[in-house]
Amino acid sequence: MNLTKAKYSGFCFGVKKALDIVDNLKGDNAYILGELIHNPQVIEKLKERGIQILEDINDITKGTIVISAHGMPDSAIKQCKGLNVIDATCPLVKKVHMISKEFETEGFTTLIFGDKHHQEVKGTAGNLKDCLIASNIEELKALDLNRKIGIVSQTTQEVEKFNKIVDYVKDKAKETKVYNTICSATRQRQEAAAELAKTMDLVIVIGGYNSANTVKLKDICSEITETKHIESTNELKEEWFKGKQNIGITAGASTPEWVIEEVVEKISSF
Ligand code: SF4
Repeated sequence: MNLTKAKYSGFCFGVKKALDIVDNLKGDNAYILGELIHNPQVIEKLKERGIQILEDINDITKGTIVISAHGMPDSAIKQCKGLNVIDATCPLVKKVHMISKEFETEGFTTLIFGDKHHQEVKGTAGNLKDCLIASNIEELKALDLNRKIGIVSQTTQEVEKFNKIVDYVKDKAKETKVYNTICSATRQRQEAAAELAKTMDLVIVIGGYNSANTVKLKDICSEITETKHIESTNELKEEWFKGKQNIGITAGASTPEWVIEEVVEKISSF
């Protein structure tokens, strides 16, 4: 078997930055608001260091709280008054917050192309008086688009789908402003995965099941060749590789290099 890794895969700069920030954080009154990044192995290691992952700040009155890479609405950060707040929000997510607030100031309703249940989208929406959210054309059809609409994207969405959303909205809205906020790390990983999948018999995508960008990589590769999405080595099954010559490996932006290496090692042992 030949194993080939995608040209771009694994940690992006936003995730590296968030992990650097928590590097010196220790347990006893050390908290992270929301999952720092969407990777189960990393979250487990943080918990082993005594760091607690919170959904909301509830009755925390002292200690250090880190805002996750996916960001939070300003109101949630204000609630942390009195705590030592460390903001690990990716600068590219901050940019989406800034653009959507500007849309609102200019009299445009922000439409976020993304998953309404994802922390990043909730963070962007939470800063706005009113906004629309859709992850596909079907969801768009249910929305009132007869107004001035500013479009942004969840940073980890697919470019092609974003363009389709933009075309649909342009046709219905009174006026549109468009800002493609899909981050370059996401674009690079998606393009590299598609390129890799073209010549592979099987692609293994590694990353959290709750990692939006990993799921997108799986979706992209699945359209081109046989693809399996795993979080860790113990999910690998030897039978997947029977009769397969060329195996591609890619990983989401929140997947640590050591997890990728473990997977490579296990596949090589088959
Ligand atoms: S995927 Fe992009 S937006 Fe998300 S943390 Fe990484 S660099 Fe930032």
